[in-house]
Amino acid sequence: MVKLMFRVFSCLTNEHDLRLVVVAGIVCFLAGLTAVNLFHRSRETHGRPQFIWILIAGVASGCGIWATHFIAMLAYEPAVPVGYEVWRTALSLVIAATGTFVGLGFAATSKKRWAAAFGGVIIAAGLATMHYLGMSAMQLPGRISWSHDLVIGSIVLAILFAVSALEIAVRRSDSSGKLLSALLLTLMTVSHHFTGMGAIEIVFDPTQTIGTTALSPTYLAITVASSAIAILGISLIGVSADQHLAVRAQAFGQTINKLTLESELLDSAIENMSQGLVMFDASARLLVCNDRYLEIYGISREMLQPGCTIRDILALRAETGSLLIDPETYLDDILSTAQRGITRQLTVETRGGRIISILHRPMLDGGWVATHEDITERKRAQERIEHLARHDLLTDLPNRAAFNQRLARALDEARTRGSSFAIISLDIDRFKEINDVLGPSVGDTLLNELSRRLQEAAGNHCIARVGGDEFCVIVEGGMQPAAAASIAERLLGATVGEFTIEGRQLQVGLSIGIAICPTDGADAATLLGNADAALHRAKLENRGSFRFYEAEMDAQLRDRRALQHELQTAVAHGQFVLNYQPQARIGKEIIGFEALVRWQHPSRGSIFPGAFIPLAEESGHIITLGEWILREACREAATWPEHLHIAVNLSPVQFRHGDLPGLVHSILLETGLSPNRLELEITEGVLVDDFSRGVALLRRLKALGVRIALDDFGTGYSSMSYLQSFPFDKIKIDQTFISNIERNPQSAAIVRGVIGLARGLNLPVLAEGVETSEQLAFLSKELCDEVQGYYIGRPALIENYAHLIERPARPPVRSNARSAYAH
Ligand code: C2E
Ligand code: CA
Ligand code: CA
Repeated sequence: MVKLMFRVFSCLTNEHDLRLVVVAGIVCFLAGLTAVNLFHRSRETHGRPQFIWILIAGVASGCGIWATHFIAMLAYEPAVPVGYEVWRTALSLVIAATGTFVGLGFAATSKKRWAAAFGGVIIAAGLATMHYLGMSAMQLPGRISWSHDLVIGSIVLAILFAVSALEIAVRRSDSSGKLLSALLLTLMTVSHHFTGMGAIEIVFDPTQTIGTTALSPTYLAITVASSAIAILGISLIGVSADQHLAVRAQAFGQTINKLTLESELLDSAIENMSQGLVMFDASARLLVCNDRYLEIYGISREMLQPGCTIRDILALRAETGSLLIDPETYLDDILSTAQRGITRQLTVETRGGRIISILHRPMLDGGWVATHEDITERKRAQERIEHLARHDLLTDLPNRAAFNQRLARALDEARTRGSSFAIISLDIDRFKEINDVLGPSVGDTLLNELSRRLQEAAGNHCIARVGGDEFCVIVEGGMQPAAAASIAERLLGATVGEFTIEGRQLQVGLSIGIAICPTDGADAATLLGNADAALHRAKLENRGSFRFYEAEMDAQLRDRRALQHELQTAVAHGQFVLNYQPQARIGKEIIGFEALVRWQHPSRGSIFPGAFIPLAEESGHIITLGEWILREACREAATWPEHLHIAVNLSPVQFRHGDLPGLVHSILLETGLSPNRLELEITEGVLVDDFSRGVALLRRLKALGVRIALDDFGTGYSSMSYLQSFPFDKIKIDQTFISNIERNPQSAAIVRGVIGLARGLNLPVLAEGVETSEQLAFLSKELCDEVQGYYIGRPALIENYAHLIERPARPPVRSNARSAYAH
């Protein structure tokens, strides 16, 4: 063994150029390093790219081993000239490359535990074959004798180093690991080569010749140099490819970074969404869920097990009370939606009455993503807006629009079922006065309180506020008209008892009109119109009561409209005349007349003011008519004896339009009537409409020197307050109190009270509607100042009072005034 080692050593030192040996070592190490690097690279890939990497590795390191061998051979300096046979030399290169390719390939691709060792054996086998084939290509004038021990030793060394190099290469990919296996590969080649070289001994034999085709050492030098360049080239390709890959890897890394950034952004976007978000995979397992989702349903993240399913989550929600429906039913619903792959929107209610809008969207892989949005506030705001659009702001009752819709439905139903229903139209008696006199805040509070009572009375029937003080009720079900009558009674009953508003006690009355579908109309407009006609009638005839619509009301309504139309031309056609009713100092003389207008209708005959004054007021014709009355009355009175005055009624409408004081003034000038002989009778309506304007106009009228009398006293709402607001010249107690004096002690008390009050205010009182001597006696006893009524004299053409106005009577003369007052 020692002898063998000595032989190898002496071969190396005595027979080799040591400088070339070092070169061979460096080339060999480079080749090894390249092989290891490419081996590692190949292990990172699969398929075709892996094959290519292994091929490059095999060829590069095969060439390296071969180059090492021949550089070492060049370093070998035997004492004889040497040549190399071409084909064997070339074949040895192919064998070296193939052996390395197969060995590395096996170690890189096989999963077997012994793959690396087996790969190493193949490489070593390739190396040995290459070496001894290369040796056999050597031609020289001599014979080679072999030491078989060293040949075997060279092969064993090659196997040992190759196996350990590959074992380390498959285990370690760090740079020191790579360095170690490259060193082991270098040792494999070098130890094998020099041991192999030590195994030969050349015995000079001049009979042996060098073939003509043999490569000279010079050619071999060129070949080996080319091989070395090829190795370097391939190594360079490998390195550049590696660099390229590194760049690619870096780029990939950057992409990953970007992707990471995007995923972070996505995470933060998901977390900052105002909506809850959950994502499930095809097997209904939870993939993603943001905090908002958990918050909406009051779940904490700890409650969610990793990989939990939709079923688990629903069970958890049912447990924590945020799922108000059956979890299984809901689960079936969700899963069937996911299975069908459809987008679906649904709204659910969760605890605390919160409303959640959910949108399920399918994903391509069979899973789904759902957004959960708490729309409670939005929904409430929307409901509020819808409510406001359909309800009255003040009373919160349905408004006209809502009522019309409800009525349309009722009509449809009645039509299809052949059933019947009623419409009740009602309004508050004298509401305008309450509102104007006591102020809108009292009016509003009263409306509110009354609405509450009315709604209670209407029960489940729809009641709506359709105007200022107008309400409508739809009475469905039950037998008509009995059902409507019973509701009407209940509505009237709602006003029984006083309303206490802002410390005031108010008494309120209602008037009600009823129309029945289909008898009184089969469409909304007809029914409403007829209910109104009935209401109108109730007001006219008996406030605080209800009336059913009757066909005759319709005729009356048409009649009213016809009259209103005819009013337009009646003044111009001279169809009006004035009647005069005497007014007297009680028990004494006639002091004047009240002018009362009559319409001498060409076909209807004489029409009383109650039938046309309201129409004229409504249409505005009262302005021209009023001016005519005033001029006519003044013109007439101007012809009477000085002591007789004339009282003229003014409508509140006349106060609202034009310049009333200016008109009165010009008429007085025009007719020459002394202002102190003119008495203007006004009602509270003048002050109710617009108090300050009313008072201002009254003052201007009074400034003209005319007198102002307050008519119909006691019928209005707040007569007392009006009495204080303006210095009236006379109070006229309404005839209803007088006619009731004997029957109703309350009326007598009122009359007594008013007379006392007026005396306190130093105001003369005139009692209207005195029809009997008893009434006169009562008034006389109560010290009433003046009287007017049929007992004293009926309203008549002035000719009938010719004797009173000191005018020669024209036949036929009939005294209308009682003799006591006949002057
Ligand atoms: P008024 O101003 O209170 O007029 C008195 C009404 O009582 C008159 O009715 C008169 O005929 C009636 N009357 C008088 N004495 C008695 C009696 O003893 N018993 C009964 N039952 N009635 C009596 P008329 O003429 O029908 O007028 C009704 C209302 O029409 C008037 O009430 C007044 O408000 C209005 N009016 C009448 N003429 C005019 C007018 O020229 N201009 C205006 N703006 N309104 C007028
Ligand atoms: Ca009057
Ligand atoms: Ca009156």
